[in-house]
Amino acid sequence: MNQTLPEHIPVAIAGGGPVGLTLSALLTRQGVANVVIEADEGYCSGSRAICISRRSQEILGWVGADAALVAKGLGWVGGRSHFRQTEVLHFQMPSEPTQRFAPMVNIQQFSIEEFAHQAMGEGASVFWNHRVRSVKRQEGGVTLTVDSPDGERTLRADWLVACDGGRSTVREQLGLQLEGTQYEGRYVIVDIRQKTQRPVERLAWFDPPSNPGSTILMHRQPDDVWRIDYQIRDDEDPLEAVKPENVLPRVQSHLDMIGETEPWEPLWISIYNAKCLTLPSYRHGRVFFAGDAAHLVPIFGVRGLNSGLDDAGNLAWKLARVIRGRSPEALLDSYSVERVHATRENIAYGAKSTEFMAPPNFAYRLMREATLRLAVSDPQVRSLINPRQSSPITYVDSPLNAPRSGVWANELAAPGAPSPEALLQGPHGSFHLSSRCGHRFLALAFGGHPVLDLPDLEVLAITAAMDTLGQAWRRFGLRGPDEPALVLVRPDGYVMGRWHGLDPAPLRAALNDTGVLA
Ligand SMILES: Cc1cc2nc3c(=O)[nH]c(=O)nc-3n(C[C@H](O)[C@H](O)[C@H](O)COP(=O)(O)OP(=O)(O)OC[C@H]3O[C@@H](n4cnc5c(N)ncnc54)[C@H](O)[C@@H]3O)c2cc1C
Repeated sequence: MNQTLPEHIPVAIAGGGPVGLTLSALLTRQGVANVVIEADEGYCSGSRAICISRRSQEILGWVGADAALVAKGLGWVGGRSHFRQTEVLHFQMPSEPTQRFAPMVNIQQFSIEEFAHQAMGEGASVFWNHRVRSVKRQEGGVTLTVDSPDGERTLRADWLVACDGGRSTVREQLGLQLEGTQYEGRYVIVDIRQKTQRPVERLAWFDPPSNPGSTILMHRQPDDVWRIDYQIRDDEDPLEAVKPENVLPRVQSHLDMIGETEPWEPLWISIYNAKCLTLPSYRHGRVFFAGDAAHLVPIFGVRGLNSGLDDAGNLAWKLARVIRGRSPEALLDSYSVERVHATRENIAYGAKSTEFMAPPNFAYRLMREATLRLAVSDPQVRSLINPRQSSPITYVDSPLNAPRSGVWANELAAPGAPSPEALLQGPHGSFHLSSRCGHRFLALAFGGHPVLDLPDLEVLAITAAMDTLGQAWRRFGLRGPDEPALVLVRPDGYVMGRWHGLDPAPLRAALNDTGVLA
């Protein structure tokens, strides 16, 4: 039996890709009823996102989807780049033995969608095979016309979040356009099944003898799948380039070159070109944009899905607070300010990576060749080849940042920064600080126990006995484990403010002055 759309819902989410499904799960955790309207009949097929960052793993952890992800995904910490046949870079991402999550996990996008969907819980449903056709904005909400298997339906929602991807219907309905740049350079994306004993790493070859003039990337995925991305020449016809008779010999030649001799079969072939596009604002009254509906960033550096999950993590707690009457509506403006800033940073990094991975003209090609030639003998040049993978962006000028106060040993936990991680000892065993994020505000108290009784705020007193590795006091910028200090961490794990001493007044003021409290 087909499900029936309700007539009214607090939050409608257009699009049940990884961002829409994760947002739905996050909102449900915050007690907000929502529906996801998804045009397809199930999870995405084929090869799209495969590299999931530590930050994304944390966000999925807020809804309990991390265990399945870690169990299935292939964690990794670094990679190797080659120029022709010579290794010119072996990079490692920041990683430590006490870490909660690997810096990066390889897993197919449809698995992320499945885990996020399973984490949705009560209060949310996905309406598969339902397509948003039109959006009408009106006082206090929106009215959606939806094509369902039983014909046209109407749904009123107080809030709408457009997570309907790069070709967003909601964007079109509101008459909005993405702004930015598209690159010409094309990559063929191929998934093959082949057993291998290789460690899980990001592997890159520039101008390899197997495919002279091309660039090839390889990532292992679960279930004995290799993802192979290779650049095609500018004069190649993209339709010809994806024909199996043209793809398979190139893949075979490369597997031969690197000595992978197990039998293999192709699973997926598609083509990709990089884009750096964004909406200038992600809030339009009661309509928000998140994920690819809001921005398209190059795959190099893996910032697409990863930044979309950060959008969801940023929006969910704010929307929940406003819906529950705990914060004024103006709090929602900060979603757009912060996430547009993040996109602009991601685009800047992504554009640099694209210019290296798919040089847009002769000058860039020449510069890349010179860098790679030098990197063979000069280790100092090698950092220029580092792929600079996705990492959470600091909200430097966020309206939610409390004014900076005092002098600190470092800037890791300055207002607007993602909260540093620390392994702590609790009465029931060790735990990571990041595991306490995702739900409420967190006041970290060093060197004492302040009197702080605010709704939706958990106080965590961090004593020297808990911080046995000294990770917390060092990373939060203190000069010793007993130095009194307060740090206010937002529900999405960003530092809002920090103060020397244990006087709760500036923390309360920060929540009031920034408009977080109603
Ligand atoms: C080859 C490739 C490799 C990539 N690798 C990475 C990577 O390693 N790491 C990374 O972070 N990102 C990567 N990305 C980017 C990543 O795939 C996207 O950023 C991600 O899919 C965005 O998720 P989303 O939920 O915003 O949009 P989508 O995944 O596009 O989901 C949108 C959903 O909305 C539905 N929809 C569309 N229109 C309607 C409508 N009118 N009504 C209802 N539903 C609708 C669609 O069916 C779809 O399910 C890659 C992308 C590609 C193409």
